[in-house]
Amino acid sequence: MLSVVIPAYNEEQMIRKAADRVSTLLEKEKIEYEILFVDDGSDDRTWQYICYEGEKNEKIKGICLSRNFGKESALFAGLAQAGGDCVVVIDCDLQHPPEKIIEMYRLWENGYEIVEGMKRNRGKESGMHTFAAKCFYRIISQAAHMDLSHASDFKLLDRKAVNVLLNMPEKNAFFRALSSWIGFKTTQVEYDVREREAGETKWSTKSLFRYAITNVTSFTAAPMQIITILGIIMFMVTTGLTITALYQKITGKAQGGFTTVIILQCFTGSVIMISLGIVGYYIAKIYDEIKGRPRYIVSERKNCEEKKQNKFRV
Ligand code: UDP
Ligand code: MG
Repeated sequence: MLSVVIPAYNEEQMIRKAADRVSTLLEKEKIEYEILFVDDGSDDRTWQYICYEGEKNEKIKGICLSRNFGKESALFAGLAQAGGDCVVVIDCDLQHPPEKIIEMYRLWENGYEIVEGMKRNRGKESGMHTFAAKCFYRIISQAAHMDLSHASDFKLLDRKAVNVLLNMPEKNAFFRALSSWIGFKTTQVEYDVREREAGETKWSTKSLFRYAITNVTSFTAAPMQIITILGIIMFMVTTGLTITALYQKITGKAQGGFTTVIILQCFTGSVIMISLGIVGYYIAKIYDEIKGRPRYIVSERKNCEEKKQNKFRV
C-alpha cells in the first residue's frame, strides 16, 4: 500500500482539491493507497474539511496536531502514522505535481528505496529570496556532503527508510537533508514547481531565516569552527602588532597608542561576544534536545488509530 502524507496548515481551500486530485489519480492507476492529512494546528476550518473528506472516502485519513508545530514536525507526525509499504510526502498546495507520484511509485516497484523529487526550477521568487536560498543550500550541502540545491520535501520513502527516520532520536530534524543522509538505493525524478493554486505561502522572510539557521545548526557544527579560524586570524594579527609595538618601544619611536588600544579592545570584545553567541546557540540546542519533549502532539484522529511505534526495528 502507498501512503500519501500531506501536511496542511491553514489550507481550507486546498484540502478538497488535493484529496480529489490524488485519489482519482491513484484509483485510475489501480494503486492501493491511503491519503493522510496532517493538520498542523490550523486556525481555519482545515480540520473540518479533512473530516468531511474522510466521511466520503475512508481511505482519506487525518490527524490533527494540538498546535502549529511547523512543517517538519507535521511531516514526522504523518510518517509515524502512515501504514503503507512506501510513503510519499507532498505539499497540500499542489505545487508538487501529483502526477509524479505515479512515476515515483513505479520506480519504487522497480526496487528503489528512496525517490527524490528534484526541482527543475524554483517557481516564482524574488531575487533576494533566490540569493538567500542559494547561500543556505551551499552551506547545508557542504555540511551534508551532498548537493541539496534542487532537493525538496517531495519524496517517496520505502518503509525501511521511514522506520530509520522515525527511530532517529533527534528532535531538530531537517527532513530534506536527513532523508538524503540516510542513504539507501536512491533515484531522482525531476519536476517543475507550479504556482500555488489557492491560499498563500506560510513563510515570511523572518521564518525562512529562522528555518535556515535552525537547519544549518542541526546539521553541522561548522559555525563553531569559524570561531577557531577567527581566533587563529586574530592571533596572527596581534602577533604582528606586538612585534611592531615592541620594536618601536625599543628603538624609542613608540607613539601614543590610545586609538590602537580602543580599536583592539572593541574588536576583540565583539569577536568574543559573537563567538559566545554561537556557542550559546548550540548549548540552547542541546538543552532543547535533552528535555526530550515530543516533536508534536496529536489531538484528534480521523479514520485512523494510534500506532504503536516499533522502536529500533528497521
Ligand atoms: N505547512 C505546515 N506547517 C507550517 C507551514 C506549512 O504543515 O507551519 C505546510 C503547508 O500547508 C503546505 C506545505 O507545508 O502544504 C508547504 O508550505 P508552503 O506552500 O506555505 O511553503 P512554500 O511552498 O511556499 O515553500
Ligand atoms: Mg507551497
